[in-house]
Amino acid sequence: MDVHCSTCGEPWDVCHLWHDAVFETGLSPEEAEGWQCLPRSQKLSDRYRHEFRLAGWEFGGAVINVIHCPCCPKNAEPDLERVQAKAALEELLGEDEDGIAAMMEDHGL
Ligand SMILES: [Zn+2]
Repeated sequence: MDVHCSTCGEPWDVCHLWHDAVFETGLSPEEAEGWQCLPRSQKLSDRYRHEFRLAGWEFGGAVINVIHCPCCPKNAEPDLERVQAKAALEELLGEDEDGIAAMMEDHGL
């Protein structure tokens, strides 16, 4: 399944976001491994958001909600409609990240 960056539209495979993107951050491989075992609610704590931001990533409520990615042109602004549509899906489906990813793909988000 692919989801798209809210800013530049780049498609990202959700498996990459769930399992690989964390290894592109400044976290050590051990920390990145540990991150994958965290409950979803802790994956985007301030500390991890900070690490992801340094690597060019910015997420909504979950890592499959890509607001900014490393492919974004400098200073590009997110598409507000996309950001809002994704936030609405997250609210609707809550913790069901698979469901959210499937809906995003269906809607080309
Ligand atoms: Zn992007």
